[in-house]
Amino acid sequence: MEIKTIKKIAVLTSGGDAPGMNAAIRATVRAGFFYNLEMYGVYRGYEGMIQNEIKKLESKHISHILERGGTFLKSARSQDFRTPEGRNKAYENLKKHGIDALVVIGGDGSLTGAHLFYKEYGIPAIGIPGTIDNDLAGTDLTVGFDTACNTAIQAIDKIRDTATSHDRLFFVEVMGRDAGFIAINAGIGSAAAATLIPEKKMPIERLVERLKARTKAMKQSNIVIIAEGGKSGGAAEIAEKIKKQLPYYDIKVTILGHLQRGGAPSSLDRVLASKLGVAAVEGLLQGKYDVMAGIINNKVVYTPIAKAIIGNKEVDEYDFRVVKILST
Ligand code: ATP
Repeated sequence: MEIKTIKKIAVLTSGGDAPGMNAAIRATVRAGFFYNLEMYGVYRGYEGMIQNEIKKLESKHISHILERGGTFLKSARSQDFRTPEGRNKAYENLKKHGIDALVVIGGDGSLTGAHLFYKEYGIPAIGIPGTIDNDLAGTDLTVGFDTACNTAIQAIDKIRDTATSHDRLFFVEVMGRDAGFIAINAGIGSAAAATLIPEKKMPIERLVERLKARTKAMKQSNIVIIAEGGKSGGAAEIAEKIKKQLPYYDIKVTILGHLQRGGAPSSLDRVLASKLGVAAVEGLLQGKYDVMAGIINNKVVYTPIAKAIIGNKEVDEYDFRVVKILST
């Protein structure tokens, strides 16, 4: 493949925001400066590309953002970018600014957009996995996942205090529409009574049996963690079903929701995002296009976006066994 001369790179964040996105932007821009490139920021993801919200970035724009949650470039979900007309407008705007290459920080949807855009217009693009869901292949961890797990576990610790004081049964819903990575981590890290994830079905009867056994064993508190995309329903739905079968329990539901997206990125997310920002710029300069930069076994790996987004990254069977063994 022909290696293009790259002088101007634009970076954007797209889809759901994730802690560490700012650190990834900063590293991308700093790496660009290191290699004497002009760096641009596209505000509000692909929508901003279509609306021409593209600005040249200087050092001052990225100072003191490494430690901040969210994304200062803002993120968006753009319906227009899903249309050929929308993508054409975006391309025209990039041309106006003379942008040679793109760094897209986001989840599987955002990377799908980058892949399509590269195929249609040939602008070199590289992805950085930025999503709390950890549902991208080609990297052990995505930027934001570790912080989201820490936030979930800290919240569950607090819920456990009240659960223990009142002998309550809590159903805690964590994020994860299609992937149970946060739920499994939170389940192991907070000693859940049970963990329900989208990838595995747990019949309500089995959950009832588990809770009955725990009552017999005089467990002090019971916290059931449910990924929002669970096969048997969300936390509220499951709590309703359990209430009918175990009426003696004082049952409460907590939905952690967007709490999990916020907050300062953890050390792990800061370092991951920083490494991937540098990897993205260096990858582009080496002619690695239409790929996602990830880290596997502590080494930078470039995976074709088409492979990274396939959606076959699964919760590790071992992790699933650990959560099961430790909650009985
Ligand atoms: P998260 O994992 O947090 O949900 P995401 O990147 O998967 O993040 P999406 O809403 O799926 O979030 O995608 C973000 C944006 O990427 C969409 O709003 C759209 O603009 C673009 N996009 C997604 N899928 C496509 C597609 N098939 N074609 C073109 N653009 C797409």
